[in-house]
Amino acid sequence: MTTHLTEPERKTPVGGDYDVVVLGGGPAGIAAAAAAGMHGRKVLLVERYGFLGGMGTAAGVTNFCGLHANVHGDIRQVVHGVTDDLLARIDRLGGLNAPHLVLGKIHAQAYDTAAYKCAADDLLLSHKVDVLFHSLATGVAMESETRIKALFVETRSGRSSILGRVFIDCSGDSDLATFAGAKFEKGDAEGHLLYPTMMFRVNGVDATAAGEAWRTIPALMEDAAKRGVQFPRKGAIVRPQKHGNEWRINVTQVKTAAGRAVDGTDARELSDGEREGRRQAVSFFEFLRREAPGFADAYVVDIPPQLGIRETRRVTGHYQLTAEDVISCASFPDTIGVNGWPIENHVAGDVVWRWPDIPASRGFNHLPYRMLVPAGFDNLLVAGRCASMTHEGQSAARVSGACFVMGQAAGTAAHLSLARNDGSADIPVDDLQKTLQNDGAYLGRDIV
Ligand SMILES: Cc1cc2nc3c(=O)[nH]c(=O)nc-3n(C[C@H](O)[C@H](O)[C@H](O)COP(=O)(O)OP(=O)(O)OC[C@H]3O[C@@H](n4cnc5c(N)ncnc54)[C@H](O)[C@@H]3O)c2cc1C
Repeated sequence: MTTHLTEPERKTPVGGDYDVVVLGGGPAGIAAAAAAGMHGRKVLLVERYGFLGGMGTAAGVTNFCGLHANVHGDIRQVVHGVTDDLLARIDRLGGLNAPHLVLGKIHAQAYDTAAYKCAADDLLLSHKVDVLFHSLATGVAMESETRIKALFVETRSGRSSILGRVFIDCSGDSDLATFAGAKFEKGDAEGHLLYPTMMFRVNGVDATAAGEAWRTIPALMEDAAKRGVQFPRKGAIVRPQKHGNEWRINVTQVKTAAGRAVDGTDARELSDGEREGRRQAVSFFEFLRREAPGFADAYVVDIPPQLGIRETRRVTGHYQLTAEDVISCASFPDTIGVNGWPIENHVAGDVVWRWPDIPASRGFNHLPYRMLVPAGFDNLLVAGRCASMTHEGQSAARVSGACFVMGQAAGTAAHLSLARNDGSADIPVDDLQKTLQNDGAYLGRDIV
């Protein structure tokens, strides 16, 4: 049997020449592109879908975590800068909930996907960022072992190459960094990844009858389990969106036949996972309609475009954020912002939480610039859930808040490295921190 084919050599047209090329339009990519654009850089953001938001829209997450921290008992917003602008734009479109309490310790904030998509479009337009939608990045051309010259993309108008001076990988899966040959890790010591979830939303909920269903549904699930009803995991999150008749449901857990978490970088596993995720969504919805007050007349209004992937490749950078850093609220001299979200480990059948000491601690850790800098490259930065973190560190700092922080820092660092004609890793951190603060970011240095 033929196992490989040789493709003919071809000349690929140059589709653009940019100061900064950002791959991926999730929270990290939005913030990175906005920050670099805000400083006058010529920026292109490449995104495979036709909209921005990443997992937040494409996987139907519809809820921001990590914007807040529990600072000695006072829950406050700790992520600002370009994020404030984005939140205000979502709010102006009527798509932002008031923050709600999670597990009695911290706030999260739900949003409507349509408003998020439109607000993110407007934010990037306001900073004159070019966006190339429906474009899948497939490789890079290197100028030298340490320097990337161009990103290859497959688009509806064919394959092209995008020249750039600095590249920021915000793909969530380290696609760009992996094309360039960067080192990465996947999963815990045994290679176990955080389990994926197919989110879904229902409409037609009787909000009065449903009441605080997020408190009562876990008990209903326990009762049903005793009668033999099977659930993919404990710890269902069933909560209202901005309009009380629409609720989001985060309960599925998608595994392979062997019981391992589906790997979002394996095409076959991902394909099977999409179908299994939808099957689980339908099955849980039947339980809700049958047994949860207020859901009898509800219907599924959305199963999102893709399975929600929490973790795949994590690039190895100059520093790896660890679980210990999160739990001990670590400080770093090269802080670029903070993470207030705890360890949220999606293990087989459950979600395991570990928190900093609340309220004795300040409730957040610094995010060091070094976690954005892959080892061995001059013009590559990485931000978001594929930045340099351990498996458990990532289970905390993968949430939207920390991704916005990392993205703004990476976009700003790209601008500064171009201003100095330096390698991206070599910028003076003082300059980066001053610029971030001038741009409204919170670096968390005022509270020990
Ligand atoms: C089920 C689930 C529930 C979650 N719940 C929450 C929650 O309640 N609150 C919260 O804050 N966070 C939550 N998270 C985590 C959070 O949504 C993600 O970790 C976060 O969106 C990561 O942001 P990012 O920008 O790093 O990457 P992503 O959001 O993954 O965005 C990456 C973008 O890059 C694009 N891309 C990737 N590869 C390519 C390529 N080769 N070419 C072109 N485009 C490419 C993708 O299409 C995507 O738009 C959840 C995640 C999941 C999966």
